[in-house]
Amino acid sequence: MAIASVNPTTGEVVKTFCPLSEAELQACLERAATAFESYRQTTFQQRSHWLLAAAALLEQQCQSLAQLMTLEMGKPITEAIAEVEKCAWVCRYYAEQAELFLAPEIVATDAAYSAIHYQPLGIILAVMPWNFPFWQVFRFAAPTLMAGNVALLKHASNVPQCALAIADLFAAAGIPVGAFQTLLIPAGRVAALLADRRIRAATLTGSEPAGISLAVAASQHIKKTVLELGGSDPFIVLPSADLPRAIATAVKARMINNGQSCIAAKRFIVHTAVYDAFVAGLQAAFDAWRIGDPIDPTTQLGPLATATIREELRTQVELALAHGAKLIYQGELPPHCQQGYFYPPTLLAEISRDNPVFVQEFFGPVALLFRVSSLDAAIELANATPFGLGASAWTADASEGDRLIRDLEAGAVFINGMVKSDPRLPFGGTKRSGYGRELGRAGILEFVNIKTVCRY
Ligand code: NAP
Repeated sequence: MAIASVNPTTGEVVKTFCPLSEAELQACLERAATAFESYRQTTFQQRSHWLLAAAALLEQQCQSLAQLMTLEMGKPITEAIAEVEKCAWVCRYYAEQAELFLAPEIVATDAAYSAIHYQPLGIILAVMPWNFPFWQVFRFAAPTLMAGNVALLKHASNVPQCALAIADLFAAAGIPVGAFQTLLIPAGRVAALLADRRIRAATLTGSEPAGISLAVAASQHIKKTVLELGGSDPFIVLPSADLPRAIATAVKARMINNGQSCIAAKRFIVHTAVYDAFVAGLQAAFDAWRIGDPIDPTTQLGPLATATIREELRTQVELALAHGAKLIYQGELPPHCQQGYFYPPTLLAEISRDNPVFVQEFFGPVALLFRVSSLDAAIELANATPFGLGASAWTADASEGDRLIRDLEAGAVFINGMVKSDPRLPFGGTKRSGYGRELGRAGILEFVNIKTVCRY
């Protein structure tokens, strides 16, 4: 895939970029390796200073950075602004917490001094997706840099301007030369890069095939990986749920980021006692959702990020229908949205277990509806996918909440709320949604050497 900014609202090519030559790539690696030698010796106080400066710059440049995201991948501008603000939050969070998280832990043994020390590993490679072009990078970069590692970013090929803007921002914040670099390279060059002895570990957020490919390549060289992959999160509604709140949250949870979020609610598993009312409410909410140019602050649903993603979604809906699914609702695109990669809000029901889409992730504004007649059936259906990222469940019954928390196979369970990431809480998946954690203390511990130290 070419490295190009294409505006998904219009289909126009905005800018194209030449991938790095092999010599340029080697120079980046050398710069990173040299930077690590001095960066690892900087104090937490120095690193905090740089991260706080990055947070301040994010806030100062919030409008222009948000517009860049909207231009390159079509995120509604209000969500793009919130994303930049959240990046500032994660920088401040780790600037304040990293020293505490990584403080040596004394353990009483037969030695005069024995402790656990947390030390940086070296160069960490991050392969990132386009859907949260700033947030995905900052939630990796803030803990990585605070831990004393240096970072190389291979961003998705359709958001090169965001990728370059992030590197510029860290440089302007004073992060030493070479400690954070963007590599404009296609996916096909990642495996060879992982073979380089200077790269110590890697993290990838993206699709299953990309995760498998990275993990296989890293395993050849015994390098640790963290994988944040896809999801098909359930949104369970039980009879005692506050239905108006559940419906209002359901539409947001499905439509966020034009339907392209790993933790979007994708499968709505609704008890038969409230099914009809829930579906009617959700349909009305889908119908009222404002589709349009994502740069307009009143827009709630913009285009999908690329022509390919729209084509894949279209094909998936056709496949679902060809295997017996029922089209409950499909919205209409306004005339001014015919040009870009828009896809209308869609509700599908009666998806049987032998429908091939039953185990697939829908990355766009398409909701799958399922009717169940008990809590047990809801949990069983929720777990009947290869994924295990997040889960949202709605009930006023505390014991039902306890069961859901215990039995849902997911990296996060939110009762009466929408699944979301928060710098203070670990984030990640189970099953084919990946392994490892970002955010919270768990996130900073992924890429450190946990060193046992004994003095006699
Ligand atoms: P993708 O195609 O896997 O791309 C993600 C990144 O991986 C891009 O930088 C891409 O580079 C690179 N890549 C692709 N194939 C690769 C390979 N064989 N080896 C190394 N790198 C490779 O993912 P996407 O379809 O754009 O993103 C959507 C997916 O990401 C969804 O499944 C979504 O659920 C998941 N996601 C997960 C999380 C999470 O935290 N769990 C968060 C956001 C998104 P190119 O662009 O150059 O191909």
